[in-house]
Amino acid sequence: MSHQVQRYLDQVRGEFAGVDDGELASYIPELTRVDPHGFGVALSSSDGFVYESGDAATEFTIQSISKPFTYALALESVGCAAVDAKIGVEPSGEAFNEISVDKVTKRPKNPMINAGAIAAVSLVPGSSPDERFALIQDYYSAFAGRRLHIDSEVYASEKTSGDRNRAIAYMLASFGVLDDDPDEVLDVYFRQCSLKVTATDLARMAATLARNGMNPLTGRRATDAPVVRRTLSVMVTCGMYDAAGDWVSAVGMPAKSGVGGGILAVLPGQLGIGTYSPLLDSRGNSVRSVLLCRKLSEELGLHFLTVARDSRSTLRAIYEPRDDIRVYEVHGDLLFCGAEQVVRTVDRGCDEFAVGILDVTRVDDIDDAAKHLLSGMGTTLRERGKVGLIVDPDRMVIGAGSEFEDFRFSTVQDAVDAAAAFLGVEGSDR
Ligand code: GLN
Repeated sequence: MSHQVQRYLDQVRGEFAGVDDGELASYIPELTRVDPHGFGVALSSSDGFVYESGDAATEFTIQSISKPFTYALALESVGCAAVDAKIGVEPSGEAFNEISVDKVTKRPKNPMINAGAIAAVSLVPGSSPDERFALIQDYYSAFAGRRLHIDSEVYASEKTSGDRNRAIAYMLASFGVLDDDPDEVLDVYFRQCSLKVTATDLARMAATLARNGMNPLTGRRATDAPVVRRTLSVMVTCGMYDAAGDWVSAVGMPAKSGVGGGILAVLPGQLGIGTYSPLLDSRGNSVRSVLLCRKLSEELGLHFLTVARDSRSTLRAIYEPRDDIRVYEVHGDLLFCGAEQVVRTVDRGCDEFAVGILDVTRVDDIDDAAKHLLSGMGTTLRERGKVGLIVDPDRMVIGAGSEFEDFRFSTVQDAVDAAAAFLGVEGSDR
């Protein structure tokens, strides 16, 4: 553990410990029985180390933080097109429990408000509420890395006081969004909202999203990358309800809040945060959790649009081992923008050499877009009357069986020898 990080987290939590603004969610009677002073935070690194401060081990109900996970499960189970046919992805700017659908499409505007979340439940496969809920419970548990259980008092309380949600579900049925019995769908929705989590669970669930669906604690895949990308996108635009714009500007992390007092926030590729404090603002977001996330984001530079550094040239060196032969050595992680710079630089220097050699020996990682650009470079050079060779011992760019195999070498020396032989032959022809 890093004592510095731990001390920092304790200190930030301490700063807001005295804030007692906000109200407990009283429209679900059982939620007023919690200790209003509870306050915890947990932060999970992307390799699964968790820092905890305050009441990070206190259980509370997940409530609306369930929504992104059921949405993800629906995406995974029936595919994006079937989900999109029933639920939009537009921010509603409305309260979470608004009885509304999109005026034109008659679908719920997004899966983070109750209407969309209830529709998402109906897309989870299952021939009975029990079967559906079992899938949901397993799915959330895989993200948390431990088995999550229901708070049966909150579930019962929510069920008896859930007229608003019943109104929403029946409205959805009337618009053909729900194909199943609205009461059965609602029963599963109430159960999913009543699953108990801790701030630490939320941090772990967030870290699993940050890791593209791989749970860093268990090492098991909970879902796949396209599902995560879609889910995080909707969390960015709709996760904090009518405060979504403010949240993105100030905090800049895909997040979801729940009336149980939790917030889950994700910094993709980096970390997951879970917070707990049950006093809520007028929008249903936990007052102290929002303050805490704001502060952490500001001080630790967690805004997802913070540019850590400009996309720098991935060119490590350019040299000429012989007249007419020029080697371009690239390194690091290659994505489209880096590869584009390399291709442009080679293109620009093209009149000054006969053979261009691209050395990718030191490339750590490369995506498909960059691979495509770099593998096409030889062809472009040939079109311009040049020879293009590549030094690619680990097959970062040129896969087995590629049409460019003849131009691939394992060392720069081999490539230079081949180039020299070629130029020699060409020279003696003249
Ligand atoms: N179960 C709650 C409801 O449906 C969830 C709302 C929330 O957390 N925002 O009203």
